[in-house]
Amino acid sequence: MLEGKTYYLRTFGCQMNVNDSEHIASLLLAEGARPASQVEDSDFILVNTCAVREKSVEKFFSYLGRLKESKEKRGSLLVCLGCVAQIYREELLRKFPYLDLIVGTNQYSAIPFFLRNLLEEKRVQTGRKKGWLELPIAREARESQVSAYVTIMEGCNNFCSFCVVPFARGREKYRPLSSILKEVKELADCGCLEVQLLGQNVNSYRDPESGAGLKELLAEIAEVPGIEWIRFLTSHPKNFSPELIRAMVSSRKICHQLHLPLQSGSNRILKKMNRGYSREDYLNKIDLLRSLMPDISLSTDIIVGFPTETEEDFAMTMELLEKVRFSNVFSFRYSPRPLTAASKIKDDVPDQTKIDRLIRLQAKQKDIQLELNRNYLMKTIKVLCLGPSKKGNLFAGRSEWFQVVNFSSPNNVSLGLVQVKITGCGPYSLHGELSG
Ligand code: SAH
Ligand code: SF4
Repeated sequence: MLEGKTYYLRTFGCQMNVNDSEHIASLLLAEGARPASQVEDSDFILVNTCAVREKSVEKFFSYLGRLKESKEKRGSLLVCLGCVAQIYREELLRKFPYLDLIVGTNQYSAIPFFLRNLLEEKRVQTGRKKGWLELPIAREARESQVSAYVTIMEGCNNFCSFCVVPFARGREKYRPLSSILKEVKELADCGCLEVQLLGQNVNSYRDPESGAGLKELLAEIAEVPGIEWIRFLTSHPKNFSPELIRAMVSSRKICHQLHLPLQSGSNRILKKMNRGYSREDYLNKIDLLRSLMPDISLSTDIIVGFPTETEEDFAMTMELLEKVRFSNVFSFRYSPRPLTAASKIKDDVPDQTKIDRLIRLQAKQKDIQLELNRNYLMKTIKVLCLGPSKKGNLFAGRSEWFQVVNFSSPNNVSLGLVQVKITGCGPYSLHGELSG
């Protein structure tokens, strides 16, 4: 047992990491450990890490450097978890000898055991398990009571040439549909209204027991009373089928919102990235989505400065941005990642060119977002209130289309679905007042 011990858990990276941290917090709470509000007060400092881009690794390394003093002052034990732990173990041991434990992405269930044994010797735990490993989440470990992440698969078999995920997370492993449904029902019983199904490549989900796919899974979840909004991410344009698009329309509980990473608008670059689709394929899928759900909001990921990317290639990405008019774009400068195929090609686009392309892309996208958000002015829309806003006396939530909505109300607003009249907007959020 870890009775009486305190822990501080910091998470870097994607929604999958946030969900993993919820699992880990659950395990620690079940052992009697308690969360500490700051590093200085904790017996265990745990950092869940992200390796997807060079910048995320650098950010973690510099955080680790800053933790040394707090760790030594109290004699806390320092634990590195997640994707960096999985693929940088030797470098971590060499560069940060004061790290007490390194736990990769497949060993989380044993964390309490590792912590109990920590005083005896240093450990690196980065082995892999076959199949799905069930890790329940306690209610108090959830980030939100009304909106929950539910992991449905882990890992990826796609091997996009730039991406470290298949190495950091391993091959695809699918969670049984029965166990996903059980979690969703329990969440609904506790008042949860929104579920976001998570996986690196959710379109290839297959129930290991029945072979049912994402389409069937969505249909089953839509039947769960109490669940109002269903989202799923991340989809891959190659596997995102017309059947799935039609399934999205079959229940109004499935939000008209989709994250569909494009990466580049140039067919030549898409090929080098091993993405398995062309810009035309991508646009055809967007057309079908919009013909069935005219109000759908689409977001994407773009990489600029992939090796050999020319100004013409980049212009094609910019052109697609204009054509599709995404409601949100996550854009990144290419950085070579260990073990990937692209890391063997010369990273020949100068840093300054990458920065320049990123700035141009983000400026264009900012204008598009502002224009799109203006369409909601004076409309009354449904918002999932997630709690008080960090700014002023406002409340914060999200719309069905995944915009951040900050709104005022003369009275307190409980967590849940409310109607908000939109009175203002910026490129990154909507503002309004509680209606009715
Ligand atoms: N499974 C998702 C997300 C993978 S990682 C997908 O299939 O798209 C999230 C995003 O990080 C990617 O979509 C990509 O845009 C970006 N990314 C991944 N590797 C990168 C690299 N080496 N350099 C820059 N950006 C990268
Ligand atoms: Fe990485 Fe490609 Fe898999 Fe996404 S689909 S996780 S980008 S390899």
